[in-house]
Amino acid sequence: MKTVYMDYAATTYVKPEVLNEMMPYFTEKFGNPSSFYDLSRETSRAIDEARGNIAKALNCETNEIYFTGGGSESDNWAIKGIAYAHKNKGNHIITSKVEHHAVLHTCEYLEKNGFEVTYLDVDEDGFINLKELENAITDKTILVSIMFANNEIGTIQPIKEIGTICRERKIFFHTDAVQAIGNIPVDVKELNISLLSLAAHKIYGPKGIGVLYIKRGIKIDNLIHGGGQERGRRAGTENIASIVGLGKAIGLAVENLDEHAKRMTELRDRLIKGLLTIPYSNLNGPEGEQRLPGNANIGFEFIEGESILLSLDFEGVCASSGSACTSGSLDPSHVLLAIGLPHERAHGSLRLTMGDGTTEEDVDYVIEVLPPIIQRLRNMSPLWEDHLKKGEK
Ligand SMILES: *Cc1c(COP(=O)(O)O)cnc(C)c1O
Repeated sequence: MKTVYMDYAATTYVKPEVLNEMMPYFTEKFGNPSSFYDLSRETSRAIDEARGNIAKALNCETNEIYFTGGGSESDNWAIKGIAYAHKNKGNHIITSKVEHHAVLHTCEYLEKNGFEVTYLDVDEDGFINLKELENAITDKTILVSIMFANNEIGTIQPIKEIGTICRERKIFFHTDAVQAIGNIPVDVKELNISLLSLAAHKIYGPKGIGVLYIKRGIKIDNLIHGGGQERGRRAGTENIASIVGLGKAIGLAVENLDEHAKRMTELRDRLIKGLLTIPYSNLNGPEGEQRLPGNANIGFEFIEGESILLSLDFEGVCASSGSACTSGSLDPSHVLLAIGLPHERAHGSLRLTMGDGTTEEDVDYVIEVLPPIIQRLRNMSPLWEDHLKKGEK
C-alpha cells in the first residue's frame, strides 16, 4: 500500500547523508571525548565541529551551545534552570497558553514550588498580544518563555518584538524553536533571544539529541549534575554519533532553508485550498507568511478527528488530530481550545504536516481520499443528523 507521511511536526526520518556521517561514531570512532589519547581527540574534534555548525546556524558563539537529550530537556532546563538561579530576584514567569507541554508542564511544576506563572491568552490565530505581555511584567518577572512557532497550528510569534521588550525590561527570554529551525531564519542576536531550544529529530536528524543555546554570561542552574561535560553545565558522556548527526542536519537545514520553505509553502497552500472545498471545514491558525511553511490544520465540523485518523491510516496516510497527541488521551488540544474553538470543533481537527519527502502527488492523494472519508463519517454522526434536521425546518 502507498504510504503518505504527513506528520513531520511529530518527527522526521534521518536523512541518508546525516546517517552516513554518524555511522563511524558507533563503531571505530568510539573514544570517550574526555580521555587522553588519539581515539578520544578524534571524537572531541567531531563534537567541536558539530558545535561550530550549530553556532553558525543560530549566529552565536560555540561556547553558547549546550547539547541535551532533546527538545523537552532543553525546555525543562531553560525554565527550571533560570527559575532556580534567579529566584532571589523574583519568582514570576510569563509564558503562553499554546506552548508545548514540555514548557507548560514545567511551569506547572514550578507553580507547585513557589513560583508564579502568567499564561498569556492568544487570539483566534494563536498570537500572543504584545501589550498584554508588557502589562503582565512585574518587578518579580525573571523569565518570558514564548515558542517561536506552534507545532499544532503553525503560528509564528512576533519573536523580535518579544525579544526587544524583554531586553528593555532586563528579563530573560527563552524560546522553544523546535519547529522553527529549518523553516524560518533564526538569528539569536538579531532577535534578542537569551535561551533557545531545538531538537534534531524535527530536522532530519536522530531522536534524543537537542541543544539549549544559552547566551554568554547568563547564570543558570544545572538540570543534570555529574561530570564536567558541556563546560560543567550538562553532565554525561556525550552522545557523539547523535551530536555529529545534529551538526550535519542543521547544516543542511540552513543551507537549503529558502528553497525548502518556498516548496513547503506551495505544498501547504495547495493542500489547504484543496481541503477547504469540503463543506463545513475551516483552517485553524493563520494564513500566509505568519504560518509555518509545512503546516496545515483543518477543522471538520460534526465529526471526530480520531475517526478521521483511523480512516486515513486505512488509506496509508499518517497524520495527527486535534486531541492531545501523546498520552492517547482524548482531551481536546489545549492549543485549539486556547484559540477559542469549542470542544467539539477541537475534536474534529486534523493536522497534516509536510516535509522534505512530501510531493505534489502526496498532497493530491490526500485531497482525493479525504472528502469521501469526511462524508462517510458525517453520515454516521448524530451531530450531522441534527444539523440536517435543523436545516429542513
Ligand atoms: C517536538 C517538540 C518538542 C519536544 O522535543 P523532543 O525532542 O521530542 O523532546 C518541544 N517543543 C516543540 C514545539 C516540539 O515540536
